[in-house]
Amino acid sequence: MATAPPASMALAASTASKRDTICIFGTGDFGRALAQKLIQSGYPVVFGSRSTKPSSLVPRGAEVLSHVEAAQKAAIIIVAVQRQHYSFLSSLAEALQGKVLVDVSNNLKIDQYPESNAQYLAQLLPDAKVVKAFNTVSAWALQSGTLDASRQVFVCGDDAEAKRMVMELVRALGLTPLDQGSLLAARQIENYPLQLFPMWRFPILLSLSLTIFFFLYCLALDVIYPYVYRKQDLSFLIAVSIPNKVCPVLALVLLGLVYLPGVLAAILQLWRGTKYRRFPGWLDRWMLCRKQLGLVALAFASVHVLYTLVIPIRSYIRWRTSSQIVSQALSNRTQPLDTTNAWLSDSYLALGILGFFFFVLLGITSLPSVSNSVNWREFRFVQSKLGYLALVLCTAHTLVYGGKWFLVPSSYKWCLPPIYMLSLVVPCAVLVLKFVLVFPCLDKPLTQIRQGWERNPQRPEPSHLIINKSAV
Ligand code: NAP
Repeated sequence: MATAPPASMALAASTASKRDTICIFGTGDFGRALAQKLIQSGYPVVFGSRSTKPSSLVPRGAEVLSHVEAAQKAAIIIVAVQRQHYSFLSSLAEALQGKVLVDVSNNLKIDQYPESNAQYLAQLLPDAKVVKAFNTVSAWALQSGTLDASRQVFVCGDDAEAKRMVMELVRALGLTPLDQGSLLAARQIENYPLQLFPMWRFPILLSLSLTIFFFLYCLALDVIYPYVYRKQDLSFLIAVSIPNKVCPVLALVLLGLVYLPGVLAAILQLWRGTKYRRFPGWLDRWMLCRKQLGLVALAFASVHVLYTLVIPIRSYIRWRTSSQIVSQALSNRTQPLDTTNAWLSDSYLALGILGFFFFVLLGITSLPSVSNSVNWREFRFVQSKLGYLALVLCTAHTLVYGGKWFLVPSSYKWCLPPIYMLSLVVPCAVLVLKFVLVFPCLDKPLTQIRQGWERNPQRPEPSHLIINKSAV
């Protein structure tokens, strides 16, 4: 006896009947993965393929027809075929007239072709409405459901209605469409999945080079120098002491480098008397990766904190403490507490803790989920005011730590300054420049310039409308 279908199946069937059929050209990896997702979301799917023979790879419920037959069944056709095979589509021009063609293709190299794949498709089929979408979502993510990294779907196209239809489809699949404008944006969208951490390259290369430099510097002064002059083997310092010097130095230098381009940009704007001229390329690129520089600096500061926490359990420190106690006991003399030293040590620790706290706060506000929930003024306040406060505290932390050795000749081994003195160069330069820029005689014209005032208005200039990212 036939039983009534369960309510969920009936609901799915009724949803499917409401959805329009979607056609996919190509039964390859991406076409099949997308079809599976579409079927799960209640869309009837029909494949347009070179071969209509039944295949176990094709998702259940999808039909496989010839390209022309499949195109006739749907208003939206997803072209899941590599760009180099697009030429076969010209022969289908009549069947594809007025259809929405979704170009999902990617290339192997950035800017591989003179025009984007979507523009090429539009040239091949001028009577179809081409929309670029889905290229940033991988077949694997669609199949496995792990869409966390690629939930955003960039969409662009010249026909507003076609774009709306595709964006609706994207939403129905549980993804987030991001309208990128006309088909001109397709080139950028196609380059997007080919980029490998573009904003991280400079910060990582810079921090790697600085790490090598400062490590060798410490090695020369703390290990090689005592060995050469006193035949003392201090090579064990390589494991904890030297990294615990290199990490805070890098954290401070990189934090200084986060704020240096902003100060340089302000000086440049004052010098030029306008904000409507492009910054040099290097400054523009430097400004764009300040967040990444700051995060690398925060990572070094965190490692410094961890290294500092293990100091009391180090064998060398325990040996040094016990030998001091023994020598006091042998000489029957107790060293009185040096309150100046105690003050310096506590201030140094307090400045470090506070500096690190604001540093972490900066890092947290740079997370997209946090920065999206604050307004522009709040974001600027944290990144600029609290950022400078973190820089001041960390610089003071280093100054209090080593300030007393500045005038002691023995601290200059091989005539080289100790590493913490080197670490102060960039942050001190930034703070001095920032302090000078705060004076009303400079701050007032700078504010006017950033509001659009120009000393010598010259227009129109091609780059006139390019707004330089003003210093934070
Ligand atoms: P694929 O596995 O190689 O499949 C491509 C399909 O195109 C083939 O299965 C075939 O389907 C059809 N085809 C091959 N040669 C053809 C020709 N000469 N003429 C007409 N049709 C031909 O490639 P894919 O990984 O699915 O990628 C398809 C498109 O999606 C590409 O443009 C790719 O850049 C893009 N994409 C892929 C991914 C991914 O994760 N794979 C992610 C984003 C975007 P029939 O045999 O059924 O005709």
